[in-house]
Amino acid sequence: MIDVVLKKGKERSLLRRHPWVYDTAVQRVGGAPASGETVRVLAFDGRPLGLGAFSPASSIRVRMWCFDCSVDVDDPLFLRRRIEAAVEAREALLTRTNARRLVFGEADGLPGLVVDDYDGWLVTQFQAAGVERRRDEIAAALMQAAGARGVFDRSDAATRTREGLQTRVGVLAGDEPPQLIDIVEDGVRYGVDVRRGHKTGFYIDQRESRLAAQRIAADFLERTGRGLRALNCFCYTGGFSLALMKGGAQEVVSVDSSAEALARARANAAMNGFDDERMRWVEDDVFGFLRRMRDAGESFDLVVLDPPKFASSHYHVERAARAYKDINLNGLRLLRLGGRLLTFSCSGAIDVDLFQKIVAGAVFDAGRTAWAVERFGAGSDHPLLMTCPEGEYLKGLDLLMRD
Ligand code: SAH
Repeated sequence: MIDVVLKKGKERSLLRRHPWVYDTAVQRVGGAPASGETVRVLAFDGRPLGLGAFSPASSIRVRMWCFDCSVDVDDPLFLRRRIEAAVEAREALLTRTNARRLVFGEADGLPGLVVDDYDGWLVTQFQAAGVERRRDEIAAALMQAAGARGVFDRSDAATRTREGLQTRVGVLAGDEPPQLIDIVEDGVRYGVDVRRGHKTGFYIDQRESRLAAQRIAADFLERTGRGLRALNCFCYTGGFSLALMKGGAQEVVSVDSSAEALARARANAAMNGFDDERMRWVEDDVFGFLRRMRDAGESFDLVVLDPPKFASSHYHVERAARAYKDINLNGLRLLRLGGRLLTFSCSGAIDVDLFQKIVAGAVFDAGRTAWAVERFGAGSDHPLLMTCPEGEYLKGLDLLMRD
């Protein structure tokens, strides 16, 4: 096995069980490991730190499989056990949904691997050299551990390029998935297109927030005797819109710039039998739309802002912060007294503190007083590995307008 020796002091993060070795931390590689090959990582003084997968093209040069050099990580059993453990940890969610993340990369000890389950159809993303090299083993283990009908690969994310990997889309194991997979989440039906949809087809990570939206709508109806009037910005295939309707919203206006997403959202609404008259679908740019709604004197009981990742890296934080501020400010201006703003950011580069500051700035500029009555994050199938804080990316706030 080839050794990767770290520079002096660069062993510290590994001793604290952080699973990444950056290219800048490497002193010497004792050979030319192939992409994804298992290497042994040593401190500058020769102290063994663990075994990882080598990524020659990535700035994350090694992703650790384990911190014990005596483990046989190349044994197929090693991967199988980790996959079984990952699948088992998500079992309890089946009472609420048949759309779950089964493997969440580093958190499951499978760096760079994402696996989502849509009613027994698994969709994979191989985002690092180590899991890429072992994809056939992984596909077979997944079929078995999850009792899956098929494994479909959506390894077409931008992150692949940074790892020096080619794009790949297609069946890896089992049967070809249907054009649309029917999922049910907390009583709401959605059709998921795993070939063309964002990520692996659906924003599984927003489950808890969609349920919160459903509850808020139901509470509102119970309290006031009327259904709320909601605006869902960046609605994609209707996630929050349908959750709000399920909760008893009177009217939901949904905005997205993608005609394709809106068409799917409409079809999803029909699948649930929701009253078409109470739902408006608008193909527009949210930034301009919010301004026009304000000029038109519109107001809402609830506004959802769940935009795409505005900051793709630390370099884009400032510009992204301005964009978040803009939509939050203009979203807040549309809310009635007692209204709610459900606002999110999935930019890893913008942490919880900064997001809160940006939203606070928007509240101040809007001249409002607001309480954060709930805080959101990704669901329990996207756990945060405490030794790898980079895994936290999604955050959200439920703001209540006090004046
Ligand atoms: N809330 C959704 C996920 C949102 S994904 C859910 O729970 O399923 C982000 C969406 O924003 C995408 O559908 C994309 O088409 C849309 N989008 C991106 N930029 C936009 C813009 N400037 N105006 C309107 N929609 C935009």
